[in-house]
Amino acid sequence: MDPVHIIGAGVSGLGTAHFLAKRGIPSIIHEVGEHVGGRAACIRQGEHAFEIGGKNFSSAWPRFNAMLDEFGLTEFEDQHPGFHIVLNDQLVALEKSKTLNGDLRLASALGPRGALQFRNFLSYAKRNADRLNYSSGLIEQVEKQWDHATIDKHFTKKLCAGPLRLFSIIMGGAEPSELYPSLMMLFASGFGKGSHHAVAGGIGRFHDRLAEGKTIRFGSRVKQIMTYDGHVSGLMLEDEDGARMVPANRVISAVPAHVLRQLVTLPAYGRVALDSLRYFPLALINVVYDAPVFRDGVHSIMFEPGAPLGHCSANRLHSPHHVRFTMSGKAARDILDRSDAELVQIAEDSFSKRMPIDAKRLKVHVARHTGGICGYAPHFTQVKRDLLRAVETLQGLEVAGDYLEGHTMEGCLTSADLAVQRLLAPATRTSVAA
Ligand SMILES: Cc1cc2nc3c(=O)[nH]c(=O)nc-3n(C[C@H](O)[C@H](O)[C@H](O)COP(=O)(O)OP(=O)(O)OC[C@H]3O[C@@H](n4cnc5c(N)ncnc54)[C@H](O)[C@@H]3O)c2cc1C
Repeated sequence: MDPVHIIGAGVSGLGTAHFLAKRGIPSIIHEVGEHVGGRAACIRQGEHAFEIGGKNFSSAWPRFNAMLDEFGLTEFEDQHPGFHIVLNDQLVALEKSKTLNGDLRLASALGPRGALQFRNFLSYAKRNADRLNYSSGLIEQVEKQWDHATIDKHFTKKLCAGPLRLFSIIMGGAEPSELYPSLMMLFASGFGKGSHHAVAGGIGRFHDRLAEGKTIRFGSRVKQIMTYDGHVSGLMLEDEDGARMVPANRVISAVPAHVLRQLVTLPAYGRVALDSLRYFPLALINVVYDAPVFRDGVHSIMFEPGAPLGHCSANRLHSPHHVRFTMSGKAARDILDRSDAELVQIAEDSFSKRMPIDAKRLKVHVARHTGGICGYAPHFTQVKRDLLRAVETLQGLEVAGDYLEGHTMEGCLTSADLAVQRLLAPATRTSVAA
């Protein structure tokens, strides 16, 4: 049987190969880099595991948890129970459980109107948590009601400078003035659902298992998806042997939307859909210190608007000496091109204003994500319909990625599973007819 060619060895690409293998279908993954994991990669250096993107998962995610079971990965570490946000120049706790039950301290910091808006927003998300995802019709209702304006136009200034900025920065690496409420509703719906953990030893252990038995060609950049007469015919590749074309009649793209845009020519409405998806760049800095940096019950800090540092957390609850600084948001974008050393210094300076660092650096790892996190698009449900309709015009092409079912590892796996189902659907229909 001809293998399915997959572009990209991130969670979406590895997941695609996994769901194909479950059906006995071979695949070849083309990966431009030298390791698996993409924006959820785990770089190991000696005893340290530097997770440079996605790492935390919810116990409420069906596909991710089923795979953990299948791979025998049963040791987890708890994620921090909440965040501290800089609000009115103070560190205010935003704990998931307390916030959902109405936290008086937070309410007084937000003011009565902001507190009421936040409470109503969260309770809607909580009530409808199981139906708020990019496959349910309910999200379309949210889009219709809210997506005519960005987040900052709907809520009070204090709310946008505090908790909703936290949602925006984590959800899209962007400011409330750059994102739309449907995306935030999606984040809020996961806020109180399930418990959040990380894989002990790092997310790399999950990727290793997912990559086992798969054919992965590292250092292989796909330059173009070739088509002939409305059908995929091959891939133009560039690797150490130079540029060449390999024949392929079934291809699943598992690269971000802005990369796919350059690889294939879709009908105009599909190009418009791809262009409307926003990705905001960010840098992720892991620093291991020789002594605890977080203390006094603080495990994670979200900084104020205008700070170059978006947020940062202790890598794990029990490792307050390992800090993950995320430089995201508008002010961060102005400095992302500076050297690694400068970024680390800026991150530490911002942090020290809230909590002085009295420790020495032992290890530093800086990763830049030029595409960052997908910030989706207003009225995304329509965008997704247009995009899938455009992809459907090319027989043998399917798409998976963080821009389809939510930009979490679960969202990526869901998109991978659905891409495989769509790719195989016509063949099944033909064989039934035959
Ligand atoms: C800082 C940060 C924190 C996050 N935290 C979480 C979290 O805690 N939990 C969670 O669930 N999610 C989190 N996410 C989101 C999650 O990491 C991403 O949604 C997910 O990793 C995206 O995976 P992907 O496979 O779709 O894309 P990618 O990971 O981008 O994979 C695409 C792959 O394709 C390769 N590629 C690109 N172009 C080509 C080409 N032309 N030819 C061949 N290969 C190519 C790339 O090198 C890459 O390996 C976070 C993301 C970031 C950035």
